[in-house]
Parts: sequence; structure tokens; C-alpha cells
Amino acid sequence: MRTTIIAVSVSLAFLSGCQSVDTTQAGVVGVDRDQRMMVSSEEVDAGAKKAYAQMMAEAQKKGVLDKDAAMLKRVQDITKRLIPHTAVFRPDAVKWEWEVHVISVDEVNAWCMPGGKMAMYTGLIQKLNATDDEIAAVMGHEIGHALREHARERMSRQMGTQLGVGILGALLGVGDLGQSIAGQVANVTLNLPNSRLHETESDRIGVELAARAGFDPRAAVGLWEKMGKASGGGQPPKWLSTHPSHEDRIADLKVYSEKVMPLYTAAKGSAAAGK
Ligand SMILES: [Zn+2]
Repeated sequence: MRTTIIAVSVSLAFLSGCQSVDTTQAGVVGVDRDQRMMVSSEEVDAGAKKAYAQMMAEAQKKGVLDKDAAMLKRVQDITKRLIPHTAVFRPDAVKWEWEVHVISVDEVNAWCMPGGKMAMYTGLIQKLNATDDEIAAVMGHEIGHALREHARERMSRQMGTQLGVGILGALLGVGDLGQSIAGQVANVTLNLPNSRLHETESDRIGVELAARAGFDPRAAVGLWEKMGKASGGGQPPKWLSTHPSHEDRIADLKVYSEKVMPLYTAAKGSAAAGK
């Protein structure tokens, strides 16, 4: 009897500690994969909120937060057009507390923390001379990571293997968040490269979000080509140094941006009809 009780409680603990989920619906691009989670969305989102607030406060203190009002408005307007379309992948996402800020950092980068806390670096817009369609491609991609809860999945994997939770980014003062959930969220979002699988899922979700919002999804292809050129012979940007390979990524984006072209045409059509 005792043995049975122990066995039952152990398996219950296991069940509550680890669950298999599919965070999103497939969309036209057909992203569909079970994910193994060992930490709850609530914990991860709360950690992200804390890390984000701390980082934005630090950016403010350093005088690098939202310095260019016109650039901020541009990024916010583009993001606002994308967000309603997240409902295609998961209906709860439209109710998230979405936030985006522009940080004056001379680095080609942008990110979205769990729960929709985003940052765009001025370096990406300026160095690539990015168009609205290209900014939408970047934001759509980053939103894709958040919708798929890739950070939560990667944290779960780290917990499973007991690895990596001690590494932390010094950027924007996340250091003292330590090994808390907030620190881990900041670390997986900013420092650790995404897997090839996660990048591909986000690329595909990104082009669909862009197309549905009336941004040319083919801009994602041009964006990555620009990034390749921007990196030149020197140190590649963080994004490019990770999988998938540059050529594979562009090839996949070409296929999937064509696949969502009807959504783009329809969005353009309804925008024109509304005018
Ligand atoms: Zn990514």
C-alpha cells in the first residue's frame, strides 16, 4: 500500500512538473510540433516582465531608451499592425501586455521576451537602412518565438539537463537577476542562440504575420540578404552565427513567403477597399 502511494505521488509530481504541449495552432505555414515543458507559462511570463522592466529602467538610466521619437513611433505602429494577427496562431496572445521599445545600441538585433516584451535596436534599422516591410519581418519573426514559447521550451531543456542556468548576460544590467526565472528568461532571450528548429518555426510564423498585416512577406528574404552583406567578411551578427545556415534560411523563406502571398494580396485588397 505504501509503495503504491509513493508511486502515485511520484508520477503525479512528474506529471505536474513536465507536460507536453503545442503552444500554437498551425496557421497557413503549418507550424505543428509537440513541446516538452518543465516550467509554467505563468512563471516564465512573470520572470520576463521583471527582467524587461529592469532592463528598460537601466536603458533609461543610461540614456539609450526611445531616444528617437519618430523611430519609436514607426516601430510601434508596425508592431501594432502585427499583433491582432497573432490570434491565428493562439487566441490568447492578442490579450498579452505587448510592449516595444527602441534601444540605442549599435548592434543589428531585436528580440521578444515571453509574453510580448520586445526591443528593437537602432543598429538594425540604421545599419540595414530597413524598410517598414523589413522591420515587420524582424518583428514578426521575434513575435513567432514568443508565440511558440521557445524561451520556456529552452529553459525546460536546461532544467532537464541541469546545464547553463548560471550563464548570464551583462548587457543592460541583467546580471543581478542571478539564477532567478527572470535571469534565465533574459539569458535565453538575449544570449543563447536559438536552435535551427526554433529559428525556422519563427521565420515561417513571421512571414504569415507580416502578410496578414499587409506587409510584403518577401521582404524577409531581402532582409536576410542585407544581413549577409552587412556582416561582410567580419564578425557576423549574432543571428547569422546561429543555425540555420544563411542559405538554408533564405531558401526556406522564399518558399514560405510565396505560400503566404495570397494573404498579403487579400490584406492589401481590404486595406484599399477601406480607403
Ligand atoms: Zn530568431
